[in-house]
Amino acid sequence: MRKTEYPAALRELISQLRQMPGVGPRSAERIALWMIQARGDAPEQIARAINETRRAIHPCKRCGYFTSDEICDICADPSRALDVLCVVEQPTDILPLEKTGAFRGRYHSLGGRISPLDHVGPEDLRIKELLERIEEEKFSEIIFALAADVEGEATTNYIVDLLQDKPLTLTRIARGIPAGGGLESADELTLSAALSGRTKVG
Ligand SMILES: [Zn+2]
Repeated sequence: MRKTEYPAALRELISQLRQMPGVGPRSAERIALWMIQARGDAPEQIARAINETRRAIHPCKRCGYFTSDEICDICADPSRALDVLCVVEQPTDILPLEKTGAFRGRYHSLGGRISPLDHVGPEDLRIKELLERIEEEKFSEIIFALAADVEGEATTNYIVDLLQDKPLTLTRIARGIPAGGGLESADELTLSAALSGRTKVG
């Protein structure tokens, strides 16, 4: 007996939805069925929001965080300390640090970390941009807030070597940030303690 399936267009929608993080086959099917059966225009509004957000939001030219302008709110905030820079792997690491309220300087997201296995080298990261900022913005301290795993350490060490002869205090946040999970998975108290317990490197 021939197996009955959903029409091709619906199967296609389900397989498209499955590309989204955290959406398994069952959820994808439920969302797709909701989309085709919804009485209002909620699915169209979602489609519009996706389009508009993708068009509007891009990385801040200076730090790499998300913004709809050229420079993000953090970089544009005149009340923030100008002399301290916190280097993170991903733009998503910035918000968890902001939530601690323990840091009032600027950020720089590298857009990843050096990872030979994934073919990510220093030239694939925003390291050149970091060096340019250090020349232009006159920081006195650079805080490295990368994950405490092999690749995070290697990336920190690589940049610390490049900055060795600069008149800068180089520090790293204290251990205790879960390796691999990045800063997103650390709670505010842990992050706050990691920031205030930072130690010198280089
Ligand atoms: Zn910015």
